[in-house]
Amino acid sequence: MDIVKGNGPITGEQIAERLHLTRSTLRPDLAILTMAGFLDARPRVGYFYSGKKTSQAISDNIAQMLVKDFQSIPVVVEESMTVYDAICHMFLEDVGSLFVVDKKSLLSGVLSRKDFLRTSIGNQDLNKIPVHMIMTRMPNITYCLKEDTIIDVANKLMSRQIDSLPVVKERKDGLEVVGRITKTNITRAFLSLADDHDL
Ligand code: ADP
Repeated sequence: MDIVKGNGPITGEQIAERLHLTRSTLRPDLAILTMAGFLDARPRVGYFYSGKKTSQAISDNIAQMLVKDFQSIPVVVEESMTVYDAICHMFLEDVGSLFVVDKKSLLSGVLSRKDFLRTSIGNQDLNKIPVHMIMTRMPNITYCLKEDTIIDVANKLMSRQIDSLPVVKERKDGLEVVGRITKTNITRAFLSLADDHDL
């Protein structure tokens, strides 16, 4: 990039010579920089710096971040599990939300820490209440697909004031849970962006 910035337009052959490499060794790198829009190439003229701004590169990068690249494994429980067992499960699995599935293994509910706290302060026997009595249930569940963008998910988490979304596959009879995406995953995506751009 420095060579092209300081000397462009410059041919691939000349860049290779300066780096003590062969033209063919350098070809994939030049192709990537050109495709990403950092360099422009004109036949018989050579490469020159396109002046693409870092902010443009970052926004391109954000728009390409997909759920499938950052999602976690979902932790799923059955509707008949007791609230007591589900709380133990949440601790053991070290997660902040559980997804509930029906007999056909399709998504029927979501359980968060607050759902458990609310039930626990109610003087009820947690061993006698099944989770389907206290969960947030379909069709009120906000979910996403693995091809959705991280930005879409971040918008849903903020607008609905929730911490996580089930990642689902849409089936004829309902939604199959295939992943989990949380504020932690969004933070990881944010850090990977900083890493990619040496921030
Ligand atoms: P916490 O209880 O730790 O604050 P949330 O903010 O995620 O966690 O949950 C708040 C409420 O929203 C709970 O009642 C929970 O059942 C519900 N909830 C959580 N995730 C979803 C979701 N993806 N779709 C619909 N409701 C949800």
